[in-house]
Amino acid sequence: MGAAIASVLFALLIFPARYAVLYLTREGLRLATTLGVMDEANGLGGQILGYNYFRYPAWAHWVIGCLAAAFALGISFACCLVVAHRISGSRGRATLCGICGTDVDKHGGCTMTAEGLQCPSCRTAFGDREHANSTTVGELPLVPRYVLSRLLAVIVSIGAAHVFLDRNMTMHFQNAFLHLGEATGSDVMRLSGRIGIGPHGPFYGESVAASFWNTMYGYGPTYVNAIFAGLAALATYGLVSGPLGRTRFFGYRGPTRCGGCGYSLANLNSFCCPECGRNLAKETEL
Ligand SMILES: [Zn+2]
Ligand SMILES: [Zn+2]
Repeated sequence: MGAAIASVLFALLIFPARYAVLYLTREGLRLATTLGVMDEANGLGGQILGYNYFRYPAWAHWVIGCLAAAFALGISFACCLVVAHRISGSRGRATLCGICGTDVDKHGGCTMTAEGLQCPSCRTAFGDREHANSTTVGELPLVPRYVLSRLLAVIVSIGAAHVFLDRNMTMHFQNAFLHLGEATGSDVMRLSGRIGIGPHGPFYGESVAASFWNTMYGYGPTYVNAIFAGLAALATYGLVSGPLGRTRFFGYRGPTRCGGCGYSLANLNSFCCPECGRNLAKETEL
């Protein structure tokens, strides 16, 4: 449910995000020109939102395009992730082992030892003296460091995927929509093999189908690029929150805390969180 609502939200955000990408790319190229990065001797490459940009060096276009997409699409994607977590979260946030990063609930829940609750995966007791001393006991920071490292991985991958698709695949997707339109009976103007592009697009006529395919030709690649970039970011998120979520860089480290309320589980001698009442027990123990 959360995933479905987040997907719809992402689709709705693609259009404004696309303009943000164009705007940021334009300002980035303008700045690069001011700083003397762009090669002004080798001619113009085209126009973005009324600004004539220089064609070379190519790496500047890659870097600026990647940063612009990382920022605009990355923020959209991150918002959708937050929404997905909030809506699907009748279980709330996960209870993560502060030593190994395992999602304790996914491993069935905690077991009890003489030193209090114990991680089902690494078998470290949360009240273990070494464990308690190795971590700072106190309030959870507003944004834990692992959230920032995961966010960074996600927005870098969406930026890189988007700039790659934007620069390499846009023409192919346009041609695909052209062929689809022709295959379904709409007509384009061909002049000795070349396709003429009118003010509304390559398809002519007043039919709904023609204007539909012109819209797809004009805006379809934007959507397809953004959707594929979003899928790349989702794959990255699966990686950093899944297998890599147990590494020190991408995983939570600190006192093991209740996923429902953030209460530290060190030296807790009950399966029930004293703060919010969440059941922390391994199912087989009940
Ligand atoms: Zn553990
Ligand atoms: Zn709690």
